[in-house]
Amino acid sequence: MHDVIVIGGGPVGMLAAGRLHRAGLDVVVLERRAEAAPGSRAIGIHAPVLAALESSGLTERLLDGALRVDRGEARSGGRLLGTVRFDRLPTRFPFVATLPQSATEAALAADAPEVRRSVAVTSVRNDGDRVRVETDGEALLARVAIVAAGTRARDLVYRPGALRVRRYPDQYLMADLAAPGGPVAVVHLDGGGVLESFPLPDGRRRFVAWDASPTDDAPDARTERMRVALDQRGERTAAAGLELATAFRVRRVVAPSLVRGGVIVIGDTAHEVSPIGGQGMNLGLLDAATLAPVVAAWLRSGRRPDAELARWERDRITSARTAARLATMNTALGRPLGQTADAWRRAVLGGVLRSPAGGVLAKAYAMGFDRAA
Ligand SMILES: Cc1cc2nc3c(=O)[nH]c(=O)nc-3n(C[C@H](O)[C@H](O)[C@H](O)COP(=O)(O)OP(=O)(O)OC[C@H]3O[C@@H](n4cnc5c(N)ncnc54)[C@H](O)[C@@H]3O)c2cc1C
Repeated sequence: MHDVIVIGGGPVGMLAAGRLHRAGLDVVVLERRAEAAPGSRAIGIHAPVLAALESSGLTERLLDGALRVDRGEARSGGRLLGTVRFDRLPTRFPFVATLPQSATEAALAADAPEVRRSVAVTSVRNDGDRVRVETDGEALLARVAIVAAGTRARDLVYRPGALRVRRYPDQYLMADLAAPGGPVAVVHLDGGGVLESFPLPDGRRRFVAWDASPTDDAPDARTERMRVALDQRGERTAAAGLELATAFRVRRVVAPSLVRGGVIVIGDTAHEVSPIGGQGMNLGLLDAATLAPVVAAWLRSGRRPDAELARWERDRITSARTAARLATMNTALGRPLGQTADAWRRAVLGGVLRSPAGGVLAKAYAMGFDRAA
């Protein structure tokens, strides 16, 4: 019997496995994919995650290849509406560190035990005071199973239909491109919907645009719409270098419970927030970072820490709800509007960003309201 089985070798599972492995526990990671996922989804790591991982040395490793973004600008028609100042936040890491998700995963993998790949888990259930995990070919036992298997694995732990899934009507186009601009995030807000531009290392930027024609999903048509969105906001270098735009849709799910017996759910399996908030992976990393010491103490002492587990569960659900609300607000703020409503939006947002409330927004975007912050 193992101490812990971690289901899913994404960033959240790898962090949990790494922390528990380093605490001296026998940890197995089961991953369905034959190879690490390619490409870049999450690009921003926020201050609470950097602070939580500092003592393990992971923060230094992550910052090694990252760019530090110390502010974000809201612009409309080329005019500056206001600035979100991460560098004025009273935190140890007053910036957003940007790096591709694949680089984050590689940094996290260095601490974790070797992943058992091409193993798909088919069932997880409590069996007395242990957990039975079944895969296509075998059954494994552990004292604790941590389910960090992403959005598609919820049926492993929740009854089908048990979670409320809120689907937004919006679709976004996305591309990572070589483009000029310093370490400043820019959000172009105008009547046609939002275009976000986040700096990445190596002179590249992540562009995300609200998509006006989500039903026409042919790759060429999508890419052409992205080119137009970039051109319209003066992003000519990026438009010229664009070869392919991908698309994503947004949903909101926050599970009402995360712990049952020895089965614990974290990361995207437990909650899904719109990438427009830029906090999904960060939420999961904080789930893992705060859970690991509780599980390590439990397995070392042999006593289940019911009160600590209940507090952890409550804090993580509250934090996920906070992030989901912020993502919903961002999604609404980035929709196209008629002329009058757009003028109101610009006036209100500009006013907020110039007032003390601008500092509250910066704190919210940097996850300063997460319970682990
Ligand atoms: C376009 C886009 C942009 C994003 N941008 C950001 C951002 O800027 N900031 C941010 O914080 N977040 C962002 N996110 C969200 C972020 O990518 C996710 O929150 C993050 O990947 C969740 O990590 P995870 O480890 O929980 O799940 P995953 O990354 O999905 O990993 C789960 C792993 O479990 C494996 N698995 C699944 N089922 C099984 C099974 N039955 N058996 C074994 N293994 C299994 C999968 O193969 C996968 O490797 C973005 C997401 C998207 C789509």
